[in-house]
Amino acid sequence: MGKIHSIDPRTEQIIGVIPESTILEVDEKITNAKSAFKSWGNLSLHERIGFLEKISGNLEKNKTKLINIICEEIGKPEASARWEVNDAINSIHYYINQIQSLHKVNIKIDEKSFEDTKAFIDYTPYGVIGLITPWNYPCCLSFWTIAPALLSGNTIVYKPSEYSSFVGRMIYDIIDEVLPHNVFNIVIGSKNIGKYLVGSDIDKLFFTGSVDAGYDIVKNIGIKTYSLELGGKDAFIVCEDADIEMTTGAAAWGAFTNAGQICTSLERCYVHEDILEKFLDSLMQKVSNLTIGKDIQPLISNTQLEKVQSHLEDANKKGCKVLVGGKRANMQGYFFEPTILIDVDHSMKIMKEETFGPILPIMTFTSEDEAADLANDSKYGLSATIWTKDVERGKELGEQIKVGMVLINEISFTLDGGDYWGGIKESGNKSSESKLMQCLMAKSHVVYSGSEKRSKWY
Ligand code: NAD
Repeated sequence: MGKIHSIDPRTEQIIGVIPESTILEVDEKITNAKSAFKSWGNLSLHERIGFLEKISGNLEKNKTKLINIICEEIGKPEASARWEVNDAINSIHYYINQIQSLHKVNIKIDEKSFEDTKAFIDYTPYGVIGLITPWNYPCCLSFWTIAPALLSGNTIVYKPSEYSSFVGRMIYDIIDEVLPHNVFNIVIGSKNIGKYLVGSDIDKLFFTGSVDAGYDIVKNIGIKTYSLELGGKDAFIVCEDADIEMTTGAAAWGAFTNAGQICTSLERCYVHEDILEKFLDSLMQKVSNLTIGKDIQPLISNTQLEKVQSHLEDANKKGCKVLVGGKRANMQGYFFEPTILIDVDHSMKIMKEETFGPILPIMTFTSEDEAADLANDSKYGLSATIWTKDVERGKELGEQIKVGMVLINEISFTLDGGDYWGGIKESGNKSSESKLMQCLMAKSHVVYSGSEKRSKWY
């Protein structure tokens, strides 16, 4: 049996070893989840809400332990881990409120032709949900699906990232302690276990992770519905009327918080050429106040560190200029200096491929049409942010950008419960529906209550 060695990225020390699930165990968990679905799916909504409230209470009770393990396994500052756990609790209550206002929908039919016939749509769970998650927000991202999926009456087989197996294990313990057994199941493992789960007998898949994995899933999933929330290369467009102080504060935060390891991090910055100098002065000032290890967390692994270095090497070879940072920090842990680049262009990986590190590359533009073209020159389509004092102008520019989420004077903003989150192009197959509706199937019903045989029937 394989084992996962979990490493604290701040110290590079192993914090624990956890056995990987076998394929037989994955099958067993799916069978258990199927059998638990029969009773969980038949509980009243009121009863399921009661269980979700117990999960929320148990999260509160175990908050400190959960925060500590997130800090240890991901290397997050305490405040960021605390935010995650609070967000997870909040998402439970958000979806409880949402599901209470869900009602069956009557469908109008031609009463003259179909007398005594009524039609309506109600919402029913899929069955067993497969949930595969990444490590960068291991707690809240998981609950953005766990809460609506359980409330809707689904059971779950959950595979957390191999980089956050201990966080995943604690989430499992917190939930399983208060739910009927087998409603929420966990499998531990890396890509191969994820792959096996994708091709298994689950009823629907929710996946958050990289584009490469997304392509693999599309090949392996067969005929099942699935949701893919994948990587991004988000553009940050600064119009010439933007509030410089506010915008540079947001830019530094957007590029460097979580060490740039957010799917909606600032990965490409486009500044109107008339304000570049002022923008850079203010930005450099902000970055000089950041402390590695306090404001800047480590990258998750040596592999991630090497990827960031390779993007930078490619940019260096092609003529970029490093204004600040540009190398691994001289200390223990997978820390990388917050880095600002200019003289970059779209021939460089740093402007084309998701870097997922604390690097902020800056280009200029002269017109908003040019800014939109630059933002759209990407295989990704997760989110884009626009900075201007003229909100209407920002909205107009936002309309031109092909992404799933547009933010005006905001960055990495999440609606409660991660609702309506998602991207297009290679960033995912964003649904037009809320997360709750994605956990439910709209089933149509037709009921004829007349006693006469219809004339066309044999
Ligand atoms: P990853 O794709 O390597 O792994 C994510 C999860 O999928 C892990 O649990 C992993 O074990 C599993 N996995 C990997 N390959 C798989 C495969 N072929 N089949 C099935 N499962 C597989 O991603 P990561 O490094 O954990 O996370 C970082 C990526 O996630 C970045 O690209 C980031 O942008 C993306 N992300 C996207 C969102 C979003 O909402 N769009 C949110 C967070 C992170």
